[in-house]
This record gives sequence, structure tokens and C-alpha cells, in this order.
Amino acid sequence: MPERPDHRITSLAALRAATMACRECPIGEIATQSVIGEGRLQAPLMLVGEQPGDQEDLQGHPFVGPAGKLLARALQAAGIPREQTFVSNAVKHFKFELRGKRRIHKSPAVREIAACQHWLEDEIALVRPGALVALGATAARSLLGRATPVNANRGQWLPRPDGLQVLVTLHPSALLRVDPEDREAAFEAFVHDLRQAQRLFRS
Ligand code: SF4
Repeated sequence: MPERPDHRITSLAALRAATMACRECPIGEIATQSVIGEGRLQAPLMLVGEQPGDQEDLQGHPFVGPAGKLLARALQAAGIPREQTFVSNAVKHFKFELRGKRRIHKSPAVREIAACQHWLEDEIALVRPGALVALGATAARSLLGRATPVNANRGQWLPRPDGLQVLVTLHPSALLRVDPEDREAAFEAFVHDLRQAQRLFRS
């Protein structure tokens, strides 16, 4: 994993302020604001997505758009209480391109994921989760420090050098792009992946 810049982040408020001011990659210039994670500290499970979307960028909260609603439904179906999790993203600003008045999501480049990785590591250090979920390839790359194809690894726990386990699965936005006739099966497969983490919530 890359060397982290010399800074001290001791609270989520400090992380928010630091990422707001960050211009370590070009995305910071175009987004409305940075969006850091929200949820329970010392959560049994921290879920990490790719980057804020259009709604997240405008509202300043993670997973509040269509993909977030789908994630909430999948967590419920998997028996994972959302209020006991922490949800965040690998990249803290929204990358998009304008088509007319519409802001169309653009995937972050590898160098942008790498630039933002130290903020995610700060966040993990603050949250101190029991385990992690990588929602999609960007999160898997950031959390594991290497390219990790989702289809070959989904539903599996992979270890990080710090000992934290990472459950790999799709980003919920991928389900929104599935053909309507295949959507229910894709949703069930996503829930099946998430169920691998359900044991963390049994008392
Ligand atoms: S996306 Fe991350 S690295 Fe890039 S400017 Fe925003 S906070 Fe900084």
C-alpha cells in the first residue's frame, strides 16, 4: 500500500474537513463536496463502495441514491442490520461528465483510487470495524491494494495485511443495470454474497 502523507486524522469530523480541502487528484475540483462514511463506530461490518453518486454528492451523505436504497434492501434480506454497519466509499469525491445538464457517473482511474486510499485507511482506523465488504472492483482494489476481479472472487473472504478480512461482492449499482428479467436472480445472488457476513451479527 502507498505511503501515507504526514497528517493526523483523529475524528470523522477531521476526516470530513481534510477531504473537503483535498485536491490530491482532479476529482476534488469538480465535485460539490467530499462525502465520507457514516454509521456505527466499531461496527461489526464496514461496507465500502466506489465513490459518491449524483445524489450523494448533492446531499453529502453516502448511499442515499438508488444504489443505496437497493443496498439497504439487500442488507435487510441478508439479515444484516444496516444501523449496526458503517458505509463508505473508496473515493471521497464524485467523478462525472456532463451530458447536457445530466451528470453521468465516471469510474475513478487507478491513480485516483490510489490517491484517495490513505483517506479510506484513516477512516478504517477510526471506525475499527470487525470486517470489511468490498462493493465492486474499485473498493476491492483500494482495500486489498491490488486488482481483484469481482466475478472470480465474489462471496469470498480475502485477508488484508493488517488481518482484516474483506468480503468481495458487486457494487449494488451493477444490479440497476441488469436486464429486468434477470434482476431478481442477480439480487438474490448479491444477498447470498452478503449473507457470508451475517454471522458477525449473531450475539
Ligand atoms: S477524490 Fe480523494 S484524493 Fe481525490 S481530491 Fe477527493 S479526497 Fe482527494
